[in-house]
Amino acid sequence: LSFLDLGVAEPIRRALLASGYEHPTPIQQQTIPLLLEGRDVLGVAQTGTGKTAAFTLPILQHLAAPGRSRGRGPAALILTPTRELAAQIAQAIKTYARHLKLRETVVYGGVGQGSQVKALQAGVDILVATPGRLLDLIGQGHARMDRVSHLVLDEADRMLDMGFIGDVRRILATLPTERQSMLFSATMPEEIARLAASMLRNPERVEV
Ligand code: AMP
Repeated sequence: LSFLDLGVAEPIRRALLASGYEHPTPIQQQTIPLLLEGRDVLGVAQTGTGKTAAFTLPILQHLAAPGRSRGRGPAALILTPTRELAAQIAQAIKTYARHLKLRETVVYGGVGQGSQVKALQAGVDILVATPGRLLDLIGQGHARMDRVSHLVLDEADRMLDMGFIGDVRRILATLPTERQSMLFSATMPEEIARLAASMLRNPERVEV
């Protein structure tokens, strides 16, 4: 099985090949076709399974589609619990999107917000964020969420352990309801199952 078989577009496949990705991993095989169809996905998967590409590649493909209008606020929002994960995801997006004209940026706490605010003001298609900092930026009017059409909640169980679920719920409340959403978690405690039920629409469950 190849990325071509899954429906991944040529400019993305070229970037993957250059990074040595020849064959999709099991989570990618199961998830990518569903997401390309527009389905919501509940993914039960650990780090190391290739889940970053599984949720990122269909978003890139949707946002790079011809005729899609660009705006100032992000069309895709990826929430992740730590600054390290946020930086890793943003780096992966840069690699996969190297042949696409998409603007990505990353915001996280623990550093000054000046350069993050500037990047948001310049306009962004894909925003990778940790919840606390994003909520601050939304509250100050620096991050507008009215164009978000693709949402990823990554490592949801770690968000819960780190006490971020309240912030996540507050961010979700600012998003358009008409969107594609996906939630990934290594485990599925009751509170995450409830969150998934409230944020996903008729999701397909994928487990590796
Ligand atoms: P992740 O689970 O998303 O953190 O990915 C784990 C590691 O696998 C990362 O270093 C990715 O670059 C790599 N990776 C993901 N998908 C593939 C693939 N289809 N072929 C080769 N490497 C991959």
